Amino acid sequence: MHSFEYHHGELYCEQVPVSRIAKELGTPCYIYSHATLVRHFHAYDSAFKSIPHVIAFAMKANSNLAILRLMAREGSGVDIVSGGELFRALRAGVPASKIVFAGVGKAPDEIRDALKADILMFNVESPAELHAINQVAAEVGKKARIALRINPDIDPKTHPYISTGLKKSKFGIAAERAVEDFVLAASMSHIEVVGVHAHIGSQLTDVTPFTEALKKVVSLIGTLKERGLNIRYLNIGGGLGITYSDEKPPLPQDLSNAVLPLMQGLNVTLVMEPGRVIVGNAGILVTKAMYLKEGETKSFVIVDAAMNDLIRPSLYDAYHEVLPVNEESGRREKQTVDIVGPVCESGDFLAKDRLLPVVKPGELLAVMSAGAYGFVMASNYNSRPRVPEVLVRDGGFHVIRERERYEDLVKGEQIPSFLNTTE
Ligand SMILES: *Cc1c(COP(=O)(O)O)cnc(C)c1O
Repeated sequence: MHSFEYHHGELYCEQVPVSRIAKELGTPCYIYSHATLVRHFHAYDSAFKSIPHVIAFAMKANSNLAILRLMAREGSGVDIVSGGELFRALRAGVPASKIVFAGVGKAPDEIRDALKADILMFNVESPAELHAINQVAAEVGKKARIALRINPDIDPKTHPYISTGLKKSKFGIAAERAVEDFVLAASMSHIEVVGVHAHIGSQLTDVTPFTEALKKVVSLIGTLKERGLNIRYLNIGGGLGITYSDEKPPLPQDLSNAVLPLMQGLNVTLVMEPGRVIVGNAGILVTKAMYLKEGETKSFVIVDAAMNDLIRPSLYDAYHEVLPVNEESGRREKQTVDIVGPVCESGDFLAKDRLLPVVKPGELLAVMSAGAYGFVMASNYNSRPRVPEVLVRDGGFHVIRERERYEDLVKGEQIPSFLNTTE
């Protein structure tokens, strides 16, 4: 469910024609729907309203300050994975008491900044990291609240979409040795063990992996309680999938229905880190067709957006639906095309083998479901300025990140004096 619909043959975001935004700001540009973001957050939040919970939006999916402020105002916290994300979260006004810090390679400076900000907790991925956090906490005279991230090792054969919760993964600590590491953590002078964390992967389209992982975590919490460890938080991570083409992912309510019965009597606060499911279908990338090219075996539509703007197709072979912004084209003949960008790489494509109404040069196309892992992965490759981001609310739109200029491309670069041509 999203707020991108056709009215009188024109694609709108809420009450604003996409073509109006493209005309004023140029293309390519990212457009997000305020109403969709709010609706998605509350779908998640209200599904878990019967128990104490914290939703920590996984901001690596979309870290624009305006999006973060919006989320914070609705009551969300954030899941961060770097010092830069901590900086953004605090700048956007996310309360530190709702910030959790994940990632296998937290640097001492990042740990220090997070301790000083007094974030809710660190999700710790190894004993070595425990030692590092304990040491930094001692230096700044604080006790670090931590959860240990468990790797529940869910069988990939039954659930092929799980990518981070496997034994071979770099994430988390094997469930078998978790008790030992919890005991180690509890013995450290500047560590306070408060939770157990498990994030098993992304774009999950079934609740079963969640419940399988949760069963392991719940049994672990039981063992830890027997050992005298007071576990107050259970973090089930993010990972709920979205519809890119014809997936039928569970709704947050389905997740809640599956998860809550397993938590009976646990007496913990549930922490969740949804990313994609909140922002994915709340955003699109608008691009303009420039040239049509007939290859030997394929037809290409060359557009002004490229892999540096949206890398998911190139990186993961990800599918994004592509729609004409003007539906009138629906009456045209159809043609199977590859939609490719101007970047000088064969891997630069947005869509392959799509049957679309014959595209005209100058026509606008909408790359759907681009709100998550879209702009955040954009780069300046081929010295292409990064594109603007726009937030639509009701009948108006707001630029929340302006288009980069050529000057931005060389910001911070310096030519050393020995290269001065006058010498
Ligand atoms: C990426 C990530 C998430 C969010 O995943 P989504 O699939 O976007 O919901 C949550 N938690 C952790 C630890 C992550 O690395």
